[in-house]
Amino acid sequence: MVTSIHGTPVVPGLAFGPVLVATSEVSPEAVARYGDGGHVDAAAALAAYDDAVALVADGFRAKAAVTTGATAEVLTASAGLATDRGLRAAVRKNLNAGQPLLPSVEAAVEQFVTVFAGMGGLMAERVTDLRDIHGRVVARLVGEPEPGVPAPTSPSILVAADLAPADTAGLDPSLVMAIVTERGGPTSHTAIIARQLGIPCVVGAAGAIAALDGRTALVDGQTGAIEVDPDEAKAADRVAEDRSERAALASWSGPGGTADGRPVKLLANVADAASAGAATKEPVTGIGLFRTELCFLDRETEPSVEEQAAIYTAVLEPFAGEGRYVVVRTLDAGSDKPIAFATHPDEENPALGVRGLRLSFADPGLLDRQLDAIAIAAERTGTECWVMAPMVATVAEARDFGAAVRKRGLKPGVMVEVPSAALLAHQVLEEVDFLSIGTNDLTQYTMAADRMATDLAHLTDPWQPAVLQLVAITAEAGRRARKPVGVCGEAAADPLLACVLVGLGITSLSMASAAVRSVGARVADVTFAVCEEMAHAALAAVDPATAREAARALLP
Ligand code: PEP
Ligand code: MG
Repeated sequence: MVTSIHGTPVVPGLAFGPVLVATSEVSPEAVARYGDGGHVDAAAALAAYDDAVALVADGFRAKAAVTTGATAEVLTASAGLATDRGLRAAVRKNLNAGQPLLPSVEAAVEQFVTVFAGMGGLMAERVTDLRDIHGRVVARLVGEPEPGVPAPTSPSILVAADLAPADTAGLDPSLVMAIVTERGGPTSHTAIIARQLGIPCVVGAAGAIAALDGRTALVDGQTGAIEVDPDEAKAADRVAEDRSERAALASWSGPGGTADGRPVKLLANVADAASAGAATKEPVTGIGLFRTELCFLDRETEPSVEEQAAIYTAVLEPFAGEGRYVVVRTLDAGSDKPIAFATHPDEENPALGVRGLRLSFADPGLLDRQLDAIAIAAERTGTECWVMAPMVATVAEARDFGAAVRKRGLKPGVMVEVPSAALLAHQVLEEVDFLSIGTNDLTQYTMAADRMATDLAHLTDPWQPAVLQLVAITAEAGRRARKPVGVCGEAAADPLLACVLVGLGITSLSMASAAVRSVGARVADVTFAVCEEMAHAALAAVDPATAREAARALLP
Protein backbone atom coordinates (compact mmCIF):
# COMPACT_ATOMS: atom_id res chain seq x y z
CA MET A 1 0.00 0.00 0.00
CA VAL A 2 1.25 3.51 -0.81
CA THR A 3 1.97 5.42 2.43
CA SER A 4 2.92 8.78 0.96
CA ILE A 5 2.84 10.67 -2.32
CA HIS A 6 4.31 13.93 -3.45
CA GLY A 7 3.26 16.90 -5.56
CA THR A 8 4.10 20.55 -6.14
CA PRO A 9 3.12 22.68 -3.12
CA VAL A 10 1.26 25.85 -4.12
CA VAL A 11 -0.64 27.15 -1.08
CA PRO A 12 1.00 26.58 2.35
CA GLY A 13 -0.85 25.10 5.30
CA LEU A 14 -1.33 21.68 6.85
CA ALA A 15 -4.61 19.76 6.82
CA PHE A 16 -5.69 16.33 7.98
CA GLY A 17 -8.99 14.58 7.29
CA PRO A 18 -10.99 12.13 5.18
CA VAL A 19 -10.52 12.21 1.42
CA LEU A 20 -13.32 13.14 -0.96
CA VAL A 21 -12.63 12.26 -4.60
CA ALA A 22 -14.15 14.50 -7.30
CA THR A 23 -15.06 12.65 -10.46
CA SER A 24 -14.87 14.17 -13.87
CA GLU A 25 -16.69 11.41 -15.77
CA VAL A 26 -20.33 10.95 -16.58
CA SER A 27 -21.55 7.42 -15.74
CA PRO A 28 -20.70 5.12 -18.68
CA GLU A 29 -24.05 3.31 -18.23
CA ALA A 30 -25.97 6.54 -18.78
CA VAL A 31 -23.91 7.25 -21.89
CA ALA A 32 -24.55 3.71 -23.20
CA ARG A 33 -28.30 4.10 -22.57
CA TYR A 34 -28.34 7.36 -24.52
CA GLY A 35 -26.74 5.68 -27.55
CA ASP A 36 -27.19 7.72 -30.71
CA GLY A 37 -29.78 9.90 -28.95
CA GLY A 38 -32.60 8.89 -31.33
CA HIS A 39 -32.79 12.35 -32.96
CA VAL A 40 -34.85 12.50 -36.15
CA ASP A 41 -32.22 14.45 -38.04
CA ALA A 42 -29.08 16.58 -37.64
CA ALA A 43 -31.13 19.72 -36.92
CA ALA A 44 -32.93 18.02 -34.02
CA ALA A 45 -29.61 16.79 -32.61
CA LEU A 46 -28.17 20.31 -32.88
CA ALA A 47 -31.21 21.69 -31.04
CA ALA A 48 -30.59 19.18 -28.22
CA TYR A 49 -26.95 20.36 -28.13
CA ASP A 50 -28.07 24.00 -27.92
CA ASP A 51 -30.40 23.22 -25.00
CA ALA A 52 -27.69 21.32 -23.11
CA VAL A 53 -25.09 24.05 -23.69
CA ALA A 54 -27.52 26.75 -22.53
CA LEU A 55 -28.08 24.89 -19.25
CA VAL A 56 -24.34 24.47 -18.72
CA ALA A 57 -23.67 28.18 -19.43
CA ASP A 58 -26.52 29.18 -17.09
CA GLY A 59 -24.90 27.08 -14.36
CA PHE A 60 -21.56 28.91 -14.81
CA ARG A 61 -23.28 32.30 -14.77
CA ALA A 62 -25.25 31.45 -11.63
CA LYS A 63 -22.00 30.49 -9.86
CA ALA A 64 -20.31 33.66 -11.16
CA ALA A 65 -23.13 35.78 -9.74
CA VAL A 66 -22.41 34.64 -6.19
CA THR A 67 -18.62 35.07 -6.33
CA THR A 68 -16.26 37.98 -6.95
CA GLY A 69 -12.86 38.88 -8.38
CA ALA A 70 -10.75 36.44 -10.38
CA THR A 71 -13.17 33.59 -9.63
CA ALA A 72 -16.18 35.39 -11.13
CA GLU A 73 -14.15 36.37 -14.21
CA VAL A 74 -13.01 32.80 -14.77
CA LEU A 75 -16.60 31.48 -14.50
CA THR A 76 -17.96 34.09 -16.88
CA ALA A 77 -15.24 33.13 -19.35
CA SER A 78 -16.27 29.47 -19.03
CA ALA A 79 -19.89 30.38 -19.83
CA GLY A 80 -18.61 32.13 -22.96
CA LEU A 81 -16.50 29.14 -23.96
CA ALA A 82 -19.45 26.72 -23.52
CA THR A 83 -21.57 28.72 -25.97
CA ASP A 84 -18.70 29.42 -28.36
CA ARG A 85 -19.95 29.73 -31.94
CA GLY A 86 -16.86 28.02 -33.37
CA LEU A 87 -17.40 24.99 -31.16
CA ARG A 88 -21.06 24.83 -32.20
CA ALA A 89 -20.10 25.05 -35.87
CA ALA A 90 -17.70 22.12 -35.43
CA VAL A 91 -20.48 20.04 -33.79
CA ARG A 92 -22.89 20.92 -36.62
CA LYS A 93 -20.34 19.92 -39.25
CA ASN A 94 -19.88 16.50 -37.62
CA LEU A 95 -23.66 16.01 -37.34
CA ASN A 96 -24.14 16.94 -40.99
CA ALA A 97 -21.48 14.37 -41.88
CA GLY A 98 -23.77 11.74 -40.32
CA GLN A 99 -22.18 11.25 -36.89
CA PRO A 100 -24.48 10.81 -33.85
CA LEU A 101 -24.58 13.64 -31.30
CA LEU A 102 -22.23 12.40 -28.54
CA PRO A 103 -19.33 11.52 -30.91
CA SER A 104 -19.96 14.81 -32.77
CA VAL A 105 -19.52 16.79 -29.56
CA GLU A 106 -16.49 14.77 -28.51
CA ALA A 107 -14.75 15.22 -31.87
CA ALA A 108 -15.47 18.97 -31.88
CA VAL A 109 -14.09 19.39 -28.35
CA GLU A 110 -10.97 17.37 -29.20
CA GLN A 111 -10.45 19.53 -32.29
CA PHE A 112 -10.47 22.63 -30.06
CA VAL A 113 -8.27 20.96 -27.45
CA THR A 114 -5.63 20.33 -30.12
CA VAL A 115 -5.76 23.93 -31.28
CA PHE A 116 -5.60 25.37 -27.73
CA ALA A 117 -2.80 23.05 -26.65
CA GLY A 118 -0.84 23.98 -29.78
CA MET A 119 -1.13 27.69 -28.95
CA GLY A 120 0.61 27.10 -25.60
CA GLY A 121 0.61 29.58 -22.72
CA LEU A 122 -2.71 30.82 -21.37
CA MET A 123 -4.68 29.17 -24.17
CA ALA A 124 -3.27 25.74 -23.27
CA GLU A 125 -4.53 26.31 -19.72
CA ARG A 126 -8.06 26.46 -21.15
CA VAL A 127 -7.87 22.79 -22.15
CA THR A 128 -9.00 21.80 -18.64
CA ASP A 129 -11.95 24.19 -18.99
CA LEU A 130 -12.90 22.70 -22.37
CA ARG A 131 -12.81 19.13 -21.05
CA ASP A 132 -14.90 20.24 -18.08
CA ILE A 133 -17.46 21.80 -20.39
CA HIS A 134 -17.53 18.62 -22.47
CA GLY A 135 -18.32 16.51 -19.38
CA ARG A 136 -21.09 18.88 -18.35
CA VAL A 137 -22.70 18.99 -21.79
CA VAL A 138 -22.65 15.18 -22.07
CA ALA A 139 -24.19 14.92 -18.58
CA ARG A 140 -27.00 17.31 -19.56
CA LEU A 141 -27.63 15.37 -22.78
CA VAL A 142 -27.87 11.97 -21.09
CA GLY A 143 -29.90 13.36 -18.19
CA GLU A 144 -27.28 12.95 -15.43
CA PRO A 145 -26.15 15.56 -12.87
CA GLU A 146 -23.18 17.59 -14.09
CA PRO A 147 -19.93 15.96 -12.92
CA GLY A 148 -17.63 17.77 -10.56
CA VAL A 149 -17.05 18.21 -6.90
CA PRO A 150 -19.49 16.39 -4.63
CA ALA A 151 -20.63 18.83 -1.94
CA PRO A 152 -18.84 17.79 1.25
CA THR A 153 -21.07 17.58 4.30
CA SER A 154 -18.16 17.50 6.75
CA PRO A 155 -14.59 18.90 6.49
CA SER A 156 -12.67 16.91 3.85
CA ILE A 157 -9.55 16.80 1.71
CA LEU A 158 -10.62 17.25 -1.90
CA VAL A 159 -8.73 15.05 -4.40
CA ALA A 160 -9.22 15.22 -8.18
CA ALA A 161 -7.44 14.53 -11.45
CA ASP A 162 -7.72 18.24 -12.19
CA LEU A 163 -10.22 20.88 -11.17
CA ALA A 164 -11.96 23.23 -13.55
CA PRO A 165 -12.61 26.80 -12.41
CA ALA A 166 -16.28 25.99 -11.98
CA ASP A 167 -15.37 23.26 -9.48
CA THR A 168 -12.84 25.27 -7.51
CA ALA A 169 -14.82 28.49 -7.46
CA GLY A 170 -17.77 27.17 -5.49
CA LEU A 171 -15.65 25.60 -2.75
CA ASP A 172 -16.40 26.37 0.87
CA PRO A 173 -13.09 26.76 2.78
CA SER A 174 -14.81 25.63 5.99
CA LEU A 175 -15.57 22.24 4.39
CA VAL A 176 -12.63 21.84 2.01
CA MET A 177 -9.55 21.67 4.22
CA ALA A 178 -7.06 21.07 1.40
CA ILE A 179 -6.96 20.43 -2.33
CA VAL A 180 -4.81 17.82 -4.07
CA THR A 181 -4.80 17.44 -7.85
CA GLU A 182 -2.97 14.94 -10.02
CA ARG A 183 -2.40 17.49 -12.77
CA GLY A 184 -1.98 21.28 -12.87
CA GLY A 185 0.99 23.54 -12.18
CA PRO A 186 1.72 26.48 -9.87
CA THR A 187 0.02 28.91 -12.26
CA SER A 188 -3.06 26.76 -12.99
CA HIS A 189 -6.55 28.01 -12.19
CA THR A 190 -6.72 25.56 -9.31
CA ALA A 191 -3.65 27.20 -7.73
CA ILE A 192 -4.89 30.75 -8.33
CA ILE A 193 -8.33 30.14 -6.85
CA ALA A 194 -7.00 28.04 -3.94
CA ARG A 195 -4.67 30.94 -3.11
CA GLN A 196 -7.58 33.38 -3.22
CA LEU A 197 -9.62 31.12 -0.92
CA GLY A 198 -6.65 30.42 1.37
CA ILE A 199 -7.02 26.63 1.03
CA PRO A 200 -3.77 24.61 1.38
CA CYS A 201 -3.09 23.09 -2.03
CA VAL A 202 -0.76 20.60 -3.71
CA VAL A 203 -0.89 20.12 -7.50
CA GLY A 204 0.76 17.68 -9.88
CA ALA A 205 0.51 14.80 -7.34
CA ALA A 206 0.62 11.82 -9.69
CA GLY A 207 -1.39 8.80 -8.56
CA ALA A 208 -3.29 10.78 -5.90
CA ILE A 209 -6.74 9.34 -6.64
CA ALA A 210 -5.65 5.70 -6.54
CA ALA A 211 -3.58 6.23 -3.40
CA LEU A 212 -6.09 8.32 -1.45
CA ASP A 213 -9.60 7.18 -2.41
CA GLY A 214 -11.43 6.00 0.72
CA ARG A 215 -8.57 6.94 3.08
CA THR A 216 -7.50 9.81 5.31
CA ALA A 217 -4.63 12.13 4.39
CA LEU A 218 -2.27 14.65 5.93
CA VAL A 219 -1.57 17.29 3.27
CA ASP A 220 1.34 19.68 3.58
CA GLY A 221 0.87 22.66 1.27
CA GLN A 222 4.36 23.88 2.08
CA THR A 223 6.38 20.79 1.17
CA GLY A 224 4.00 19.01 -1.22
CA ALA A 225 4.06 15.85 0.91
CA ILE A 226 0.84 13.87 1.36
CA GLU A 227 0.75 11.09 3.98
CA VAL A 228 -1.83 8.35 3.50
CA ASP A 229 -3.70 7.12 6.62
CA PRO A 230 -1.28 8.79 9.09
CA ASP A 231 -1.47 8.27 12.83
CA GLU A 232 -4.52 10.30 13.79
CA ALA A 233 -3.28 11.83 17.05
CA LYS A 234 0.10 12.78 15.60
CA ALA A 235 -1.50 14.30 12.52
CA ALA A 236 -3.90 16.37 14.65
CA ASP A 237 -0.95 17.64 16.72
CA ARG A 238 0.96 18.70 13.62
CA VAL A 239 -2.07 20.57 12.27
CA ALA A 240 -2.53 22.40 15.59
CA GLU A 241 1.18 23.31 15.66
CA ASP A 242 1.00 24.59 12.07
CA ARG A 243 -2.04 26.76 12.93
CA SER A 244 -0.32 28.47 15.84
CA GLU A 245 2.86 28.95 13.79
CA ARG A 246 0.86 30.57 11.01
CA ALA A 247 -0.99 32.84 13.40
CA ALA A 248 2.41 34.04 14.71
CA LEU A 249 3.60 34.65 11.16
CA ALA A 250 0.55 36.74 10.33
CA SER A 251 1.27 39.10 13.22
CA TRP A 252 4.89 39.77 12.19
CA SER A 253 5.33 43.44 11.26
CA GLY A 254 8.84 43.93 9.85
CA PRO A 255 11.22 45.39 8.90
CA GLY A 256 12.78 42.63 6.76
CA GLY A 257 16.01 41.05 7.92
CA THR A 258 17.60 37.90 9.33
CA ALA A 259 17.64 37.00 13.05
CA ASP A 260 21.15 38.46 13.35
CA GLY A 261 20.16 41.76 11.74
CA ARG A 262 21.25 41.43 8.12
CA PRO A 263 18.71 43.57 6.20
CA VAL A 264 16.61 41.96 3.46
CA LYS A 265 14.32 44.34 1.63
CA LEU A 266 10.75 43.09 1.36
CA LEU A 267 8.85 44.52 -1.60
CA ALA A 268 5.46 44.04 -3.26
CA ASN A 269 4.52 42.89 -6.76
CA VAL A 270 1.69 45.05 -8.09
CA ALA A 271 -0.41 45.42 -11.22
CA ASP A 272 -2.17 48.76 -10.74
CA ALA A 273 -3.02 51.57 -8.32
CA ALA A 274 -5.40 49.35 -6.31
CA SER A 275 -2.78 46.68 -5.61
CA ALA A 276 -0.18 49.40 -4.88
CA GLY A 277 -2.59 50.89 -2.33
CA ALA A 278 -3.11 47.46 -0.75
CA ALA A 279 0.68 46.98 -0.55
CA THR A 280 1.04 50.05 1.71
CA LYS A 281 -0.78 48.08 4.44
CA GLU A 282 2.02 45.47 4.53
CA PRO A 283 5.50 45.90 6.00
CA VAL A 284 7.22 46.59 2.65
CA THR A 285 9.94 49.07 1.68
CA GLY A 286 8.36 49.63 -1.71
CA ILE A 287 7.34 47.93 -4.92
CA GLY A 288 9.79 45.46 -6.43
CA LEU A 289 7.80 44.69 -9.57
CA PHE A 290 5.14 46.84 -11.19
CA ARG A 291 3.95 44.72 -14.14
CA THR A 292 2.95 47.60 -16.44
CA GLU A 293 1.62 45.35 -19.21
CA LEU A 294 -1.22 44.24 -16.95
CA CYS A 295 -2.64 47.79 -17.20
CA PHE A 296 -3.09 47.35 -20.94
CA LEU A 297 -4.40 43.80 -21.48
CA ASP A 298 -7.73 45.12 -22.77
CA ARG A 299 -6.34 48.03 -24.82
CA GLU A 300 -6.61 47.92 -28.60
CA THR A 301 -4.36 50.95 -29.12
CA GLU A 302 -1.30 52.28 -27.32
CA PRO A 303 -2.22 54.77 -24.57
CA SER A 304 -0.73 58.24 -25.02
CA VAL A 305 2.30 59.30 -22.97
CA GLU A 306 0.05 61.49 -20.80
CA GLU A 307 -2.43 58.67 -20.20
CA GLN A 308 0.38 56.29 -19.27
CA ALA A 309 1.93 58.93 -17.00
CA ALA A 310 -1.37 59.24 -15.11
CA ILE A 311 -1.54 55.46 -14.58
CA TYR A 312 2.07 55.25 -13.37
CA THR A 313 1.63 58.30 -11.13
CA ALA A 314 -1.19 56.55 -9.27
CA VAL A 315 1.08 53.55 -8.61
CA LEU A 316 4.15 55.60 -7.60
CA GLU A 317 2.33 58.08 -5.37
CA PRO A 318 1.74 55.87 -2.29
CA PHE A 319 5.47 55.13 -2.14
CA ALA A 320 6.85 58.66 -2.16
CA GLY A 321 9.12 59.44 0.77
CA GLU A 322 12.53 58.76 2.22
CA GLY A 323 13.84 55.21 1.90
CA ARG A 324 10.97 53.92 -0.25
CA TYR A 325 11.09 53.15 -3.96
CA VAL A 326 9.18 51.61 -6.85
CA VAL A 327 10.65 49.33 -9.50
CA VAL A 328 8.71 49.80 -12.74
CA ARG A 329 9.07 47.07 -15.33
CA THR A 330 8.69 48.15 -18.93
CA LEU A 331 6.08 46.42 -21.07
CA ASP A 332 6.42 42.61 -20.94
CA ALA A 333 3.95 42.01 -23.74
CA GLY A 334 3.90 38.79 -25.72
CA SER A 335 3.77 35.05 -24.99
CA ASP A 336 1.22 34.45 -22.21
CA LYS A 337 0.42 38.19 -21.97
CA PRO A 338 -0.76 39.23 -25.44
CA ILE A 339 -1.33 43.00 -25.79
CA ALA A 340 -3.22 44.05 -28.93
CA PHE A 341 -1.09 47.09 -29.71
CA ALA A 342 2.30 45.48 -29.10
CA THR A 343 2.37 41.70 -29.50
CA HIS A 344 3.45 40.18 -32.81
CA PRO A 345 0.60 37.97 -34.00
CA ASP A 346 1.00 34.43 -35.35
CA GLU A 347 4.39 33.63 -33.85
CA GLU A 348 5.36 29.97 -34.11
CA ASN A 349 6.66 29.88 -30.54
CA PRO A 350 5.70 33.04 -28.65
CA ALA A 351 7.57 32.22 -25.43
CA LEU A 352 10.79 32.21 -27.48
CA GLY A 353 9.65 35.00 -29.76
CA VAL A 354 9.41 38.76 -29.78
CA ARG A 355 8.32 39.43 -26.19
CA GLY A 356 9.36 41.92 -23.52
CA LEU A 357 12.29 44.17 -24.41
CA ARG A 358 12.53 42.48 -27.83
CA LEU A 359 9.43 44.41 -28.96
CA SER A 360 11.56 47.55 -28.95
CA PHE A 361 13.99 46.16 -31.58
CA ALA A 362 11.56 46.87 -34.41
CA ASP A 363 9.58 49.55 -32.61
CA PRO A 364 11.89 51.64 -30.38
CA GLY A 365 9.23 54.34 -30.08
CA LEU A 366 7.07 52.06 -27.93
CA LEU A 367 9.80 51.85 -25.27
CA ASP A 368 10.79 55.52 -25.59
CA ARG A 369 7.23 56.70 -25.01
CA GLN A 370 6.83 54.42 -22.01
CA LEU A 371 10.11 55.66 -20.48
CA ASP A 372 9.00 59.26 -21.05
CA ALA A 373 5.74 58.54 -19.23
CA ILE A 374 7.55 56.83 -16.33
CA ALA A 375 9.92 59.83 -16.03
CA ILE A 376 6.94 62.21 -15.89
CA ALA A 377 5.30 60.11 -13.14
CA ALA A 378 8.56 59.99 -11.14
CA GLU A 379 8.95 63.75 -11.45
CA ARG A 380 5.35 64.43 -10.42
CA THR A 381 5.38 62.17 -7.37
CA GLY A 382 8.97 62.64 -6.23
CA THR A 383 9.05 58.85 -5.68
CA GLU A 384 12.42 57.16 -6.15
CA CYS A 385 11.90 55.22 -9.33
CA TRP A 386 13.95 52.32 -10.66
CA VAL A 387 13.17 50.99 -14.15
CA MET A 388 13.92 47.50 -15.44
CA ALA A 389 13.49 45.68 -18.72
CA PRO A 390 12.05 42.16 -19.05
CA MET A 391 13.57 39.35 -21.15
CA VAL A 392 17.07 40.76 -21.47
CA ALA A 393 19.39 38.20 -23.10
CA THR A 394 22.60 40.07 -23.98
CA VAL A 395 25.00 42.62 -22.49
CA ALA A 396 24.35 44.95 -25.44
CA GLU A 397 20.61 44.97 -24.68
CA ALA A 398 21.39 45.92 -21.07
CA ARG A 399 23.76 48.68 -22.28
CA ASP A 400 21.20 50.24 -24.63
CA PHE A 401 18.41 50.01 -22.08
CA GLY A 402 20.63 51.40 -19.32
CA ALA A 403 21.54 54.43 -21.44
CA ALA A 404 17.90 55.13 -22.35
CA VAL A 405 16.83 55.03 -18.69
CA ARG A 406 19.76 57.09 -17.37
CA LYS A 407 19.11 59.75 -20.01
CA ARG A 408 15.78 60.36 -18.25
CA GLY A 409 17.33 60.65 -14.79
CA LEU A 410 16.10 57.25 -13.61
CA LYS A 411 17.95 54.23 -12.19
CA PRO A 412 18.27 51.39 -14.71
CA GLY A 413 18.22 47.65 -14.10
CA VAL A 414 17.34 44.46 -15.94
CA MET A 415 15.44 41.32 -15.14
CA VAL A 416 17.30 38.04 -15.16
CA GLU A 417 14.83 35.66 -16.78
CA VAL A 418 16.97 34.17 -19.53
CA PRO A 419 19.86 31.86 -18.52
CA SER A 420 22.27 33.86 -20.72
CA ALA A 421 21.68 36.96 -18.55
CA ALA A 422 22.40 34.98 -15.38
CA LEU A 423 25.61 33.51 -16.82
CA LEU A 424 26.81 36.97 -17.87
CA ALA A 425 25.44 38.82 -14.82
CA HIS A 426 28.87 40.26 -13.98
CA GLN A 427 29.06 41.94 -17.40
CA VAL A 428 25.41 43.00 -17.37
CA LEU A 429 26.07 44.73 -14.03
CA GLU A 430 28.73 46.89 -15.69
CA GLU A 431 25.87 48.41 -17.72
CA VAL A 432 23.06 48.78 -15.16
CA ASP A 433 22.61 49.50 -11.44
CA PHE A 434 20.58 46.50 -10.26
CA LEU A 435 19.26 43.08 -11.26
CA SER A 436 15.93 41.44 -10.46
CA ILE A 437 15.60 37.71 -11.03
CA GLY A 438 12.29 36.61 -12.54
CA THR A 439 12.32 33.03 -11.35
CA ASN A 440 9.07 32.15 -13.18
CA ASP A 441 10.63 32.67 -16.59
CA LEU A 442 14.17 31.78 -15.52
CA THR A 443 12.81 28.36 -14.49
CA GLN A 444 10.81 28.00 -17.72
CA TYR A 445 13.85 28.76 -19.87
CA THR A 446 16.38 26.81 -17.80
CA MET A 447 14.26 23.67 -17.69
CA ALA A 448 12.81 24.11 -21.22
CA ALA A 449 9.35 23.60 -19.73
CA ASP A 450 6.36 25.84 -20.48
CA ARG A 451 5.43 27.53 -17.19
CA MET A 452 1.75 26.97 -18.04
CA ALA A 453 2.07 23.26 -18.90
CA THR A 454 -0.02 21.38 -16.40
CA ASP A 455 1.93 18.14 -16.83
CA LEU A 456 5.38 19.65 -16.26
CA ALA A 457 4.94 21.05 -12.74
CA HIS A 458 7.87 18.98 -11.44
CA LEU A 459 10.13 20.78 -13.94
CA THR A 460 8.72 24.30 -13.58
CA ASP A 461 9.73 24.36 -9.95
CA PRO A 462 12.14 27.12 -8.80
CA TRP A 463 13.67 24.64 -6.33
CA GLN A 464 15.27 22.88 -9.31
CA PRO A 465 18.97 22.92 -8.37
CA ALA A 466 19.90 24.13 -11.89
CA VAL A 467 17.76 27.23 -11.38
CA LEU A 468 19.30 27.82 -7.95
CA GLN A 469 22.78 27.59 -9.52
CA LEU A 470 21.86 30.43 -11.89
CA VAL A 471 20.47 32.47 -8.99
CA ALA A 472 23.76 31.88 -7.14
CA ILE A 473 25.83 33.07 -10.10
CA THR A 474 23.70 36.20 -10.41
CA ALA A 475 23.80 37.00 -6.69
CA GLU A 476 27.57 36.52 -6.60
CA ALA A 477 27.96 38.98 -9.49
CA GLY A 478 25.92 41.50 -7.49
CA ARG A 479 28.02 40.98 -4.38
CA ARG A 480 31.24 41.62 -6.33
CA ALA A 481 29.84 44.69 -8.06
CA ARG A 482 28.26 45.91 -4.79
CA LYS A 483 24.94 46.30 -6.58
CA PRO A 484 21.53 44.99 -5.45
CA VAL A 485 20.19 41.71 -6.84
CA GLY A 486 16.57 40.88 -5.97
CA VAL A 487 14.11 38.13 -6.78
CA CYS A 488 10.63 39.08 -7.97
CA GLY A 489 9.28 35.75 -9.26
CA GLU A 490 6.92 33.47 -7.30
CA ALA A 491 9.99 31.90 -5.61
CA ALA A 492 10.24 34.94 -3.33
CA ALA A 493 6.79 34.15 -1.88
CA ASP A 494 7.88 30.71 -0.63
CA PRO A 495 9.07 31.28 2.99
CA LEU A 496 11.53 28.38 2.98
CA LEU A 497 12.95 29.21 -0.44
CA ALA A 498 13.21 32.88 0.65
CA CYS A 499 15.76 31.81 3.30
CA VAL A 500 17.71 29.92 0.64
CA LEU A 501 17.67 32.97 -1.65
CA VAL A 502 18.95 35.19 1.17
CA GLY A 503 21.71 32.66 1.80
CA LEU A 504 22.64 32.80 -1.89
CA GLY A 505 23.18 36.56 -1.50
CA ILE A 506 19.86 37.96 -2.73
CA THR A 507 19.28 41.42 -1.22
CA SER A 508 15.54 41.94 -1.82
CA LEU A 509 12.46 39.75 -2.16
CA SER A 510 9.40 40.99 -4.04
CA MET A 511 6.11 39.11 -3.89
CA ALA A 512 2.31 39.33 -3.77
CA SER A 513 1.40 41.49 -0.76
CA ALA A 514 -0.44 38.59 0.89
CA ALA A 515 2.81 36.62 1.20
CA VAL A 516 4.96 39.35 2.77
CA ARG A 517 4.35 38.61 6.46
CA SER A 518 4.89 34.87 6.29
CA VAL A 519 8.10 35.35 4.29
CA GLY A 520 9.33 38.16 6.54
CA ALA A 521 8.63 36.19 9.72
CA ARG A 522 10.38 33.07 8.42
CA VAL A 523 13.52 34.99 7.39
CA ALA A 524 13.52 36.87 10.72
CA ASP A 525 13.74 33.54 12.51
CA VAL A 526 17.06 32.41 11.00
CA THR A 527 20.56 33.85 11.06
CA PHE A 528 22.38 34.68 7.86
CA ALA A 529 24.81 31.83 8.55
CA VAL A 530 21.89 29.37 8.63
CA CYS A 531 20.51 30.88 5.41
CA GLU A 532 23.92 30.21 3.84
CA GLU A 533 23.89 26.62 5.05
CA MET A 534 20.36 26.18 3.66
CA ALA A 535 21.56 27.58 0.33
CA HIS A 536 24.52 25.16 0.21
CA ALA A 537 22.26 22.23 1.02
CA ALA A 538 19.70 23.17 -1.65
CA LEU A 539 22.41 23.67 -4.28
CA ALA A 540 23.87 20.27 -3.49
CA ALA A 541 20.52 18.47 -3.89
CA VAL A 542 19.67 16.57 -7.07
CA ASP A 543 15.98 17.48 -7.27
CA PRO A 544 13.42 19.90 -5.80
CA ALA A 545 12.05 17.48 -3.19
CA THR A 546 15.46 16.74 -1.68
CA ALA A 547 16.40 20.44 -1.92
CA ARG A 548 13.30 21.35 0.13
CA GLU A 549 13.95 18.62 2.66
CA ALA A 550 17.62 19.53 3.06
CA ALA A 551 16.79 23.23 3.58
CA ARG A 552 13.97 22.49 6.02
CA ALA A 553 16.17 20.22 8.12
CA LEU A 554 18.41 23.22 8.89
CA LEU A 555 15.63 25.44 10.27
CA PRO A 556 16.01 26.24 13.96
C1 PEP B 1 9.12 36.15 -13.74
O1 PEP B 1 9.24 35.70 -14.87
O2 PEP B 1 9.52 35.56 -12.71
C2 PEP B 1 8.45 37.45 -13.53
C3 PEP B 1 8.46 38.02 -12.35
O3 PEP B 1 7.80 37.98 -14.60
P1 PEP B 1 6.33 37.47 -15.06
O4 PEP B 1 5.85 36.46 -14.07
O5 PEP B 1 5.48 38.68 -15.13
O6 PEP B 1 6.66 36.88 -16.40
MG1 MG C 1 8.78 36.97 -16.55
